[in-house]
Amino acid sequence: MAEDAFVLYLVSLFSFTAGSHRLWSHRAYKAKWQLRLLLVIFQTISFQDVVYVWVLFHRLHHKYTDTNADPHNSKRGFFYAQIGWIMLESHPDQIEKRKTIDMSDLKSDPIIRFQIRYYFRLLFLFFAFLPTVIPWYLWNETLTNSWFVAVALRHLFSLHITSLVNSWAHMWGNQPYEKGTTGRETLLLSIMTLGEAWHNYHHTFPWDYKASELGGGRINATTFVLKNIFGKIGWAYDFKTVSDDMIQKRIERTGDGSYSPTIWGWGDRDQTEDNKSFATIEKF
Ligand SMILES: [Zn+2]
Ligand SMILES: [Zn+2]
Repeated sequence: MAEDAFVLYLVSLFSFTAGSHRLWSHRAYKAKWQLRLLLVIFQTISFQDVVYVWVLFHRLHHKYTDTNADPHNSKRGFFYAQIGWIMLESHPDQIEKRKTIDMSDLKSDPIIRFQIRYYFRLLFLFFAFLPTVIPWYLWNETLTNSWFVAVALRHLFSLHITSLVNSWAHMWGNQPYEKGTTGRETLLLSIMTLGEAWHNYHHTFPWDYKASELGGGRINATTFVLKNIFGKIGWAYDFKTVSDDMIQKRIERTGDGSYSPTIWGWGDRDQTEDNKSFATIEKF
């Protein structure tokens, strides 16, 4: 049973990281209809409203980070950013600013329109019915176990893990790229969210499909799958990314000084003066 729940957890997470987030909210790459359809089905399994609404809130979050127009303003505390914002009424500033967000790209996507139109039927089928019935029918799981573990518990778990990007990744962690924003880098959460908590980088360069730099221990399973599977078969293309030079300039201009790049050895262009100062050069 735990295996079914884990697979569904990965599938729901991937629908956010690759779909609602990098593809639809930030337009960091383009996807053919086959991938968009797959991502919409996965996103329906996750039960976090339709993609359209998720994207609207996320674009607001980036445009008005940590103001009253940010749906999960982390300045209002951990609980509010984690789950409180879903339970309370929206701030009037946020309702007002919704009108300013351009959503024309999603309105013109037939797959997004299809999800909005048939949401409750799709939700019943993909979120509740199939994950309960398939384990019961195919490998003799009890219906009660299927429902409580593969649907209810898995939903609760994935909802809270994805929400940690709004709370934890805005409160604790380094800010090597931009100390003016509240987004932060966190390795542990990045592992749990398939690479979505390199959040200081992400708020600095939101249209980079990698949502992080690569290398230097930066775990990013979503980037790996997008590039090596969907990129290879041509379902994902036009990946936008940032040059090393641009990243370096940004680190020097706005970072908090915590950046530690991986280097190939002495004299690598990324080696800082600080790093050189630790060395002792012995003369025998
Ligand atoms: Zn954020
Ligand atoms: Zn984002």
